[in-house]
Amino acid sequence: MVTYKQFHFFENWKEFKKWYDTQNITREITAVHEHHTWKPDYSYFKGDMNPQIEPWENHDTLMENLDNYHELALKWRDSGHHIATFKDGVIATARDLNWAPASIYGNNTGAVCIENMGNFDRGHDMMTEAQKESVLGVTATILNRHELEPNTDTILYHHWFDQDTGKRTNGEWGNVKTCPSHNFFGGNKVKDCEENFIPLIKQKLKEMEEKQMKDYKEILKEKTDSPDVWIKLCDDLENGYIELENIQTLQWLKVLVEKLGN
Ligand SMILES: [Zn+2]
Repeated sequence: MVTYKQFHFFENWKEFKKWYDTQNITREITAVHEHHTWKPDYSYFKGDMNPQIEPWENHDTLMENLDNYHELALKWRDSGHHIATFKDGVIATARDLNWAPASIYGNNTGAVCIENMGNFDRGHDMMTEAQKESVLGVTATILNRHELEPNTDTILYHHWFDQDTGKRTNGEWGNVKTCPSHNFFGGNKVKDCEENFIPLIKQKLKEMEEKQMKDYKEILKEKTDSPDVWIKLCDDLENGYIELENIQTLQWLKVLVEKLGN
């Protein structure tokens, strides 16, 4: 992680996840919002991450320009978005996670807002594989942390909401933007999200859960090497606080690891 002013920069979503999972987020999170910046588009992006030469310079400038636009021109209290993804897969943070974003009019409570840098309108930028990987990883990290099922109520595209009323129209009528637009994982419609985006998110969530299971099992193995912990674990099993068959599920492994930590 590299920090510049109020922004943190991460090389990939795994690094981002480590940071996000330790943040003290006190408001209730119920949804992830997906956007594209439209402008800046990929032509503004000059600085593929290269720590050997001017690291992060272009990312800094883009984040700062967006921040200045939001604060000085639109008079918002901070950048509208919490997180941004870049063409080279770099991820940046902006607005305090404990503040609701300035993201989708009338629907900001409980949201984490992601700005994906690029113009994904038809005929413009095609999202790079590196950025796709980051969008998926960041979105899944948020759903995973807040224990949200991936669906079209927890993952929301800007396009689905009327900008004047905040009403959900699924982009079928009203004053709607194209955002995150046609080239965003096969399209900006609810059906596109269900068919193209959500299956990839589910795959990412599965990978994350498997990794967590593995980590918990490692911790458990280490802890149960100590006789005291082993006795406590046996007691808990005997007293019905923990059932053996449940130890295979992630939720129970988490409970168990926390219990043994005391
Ligand atoms: Zn948008």
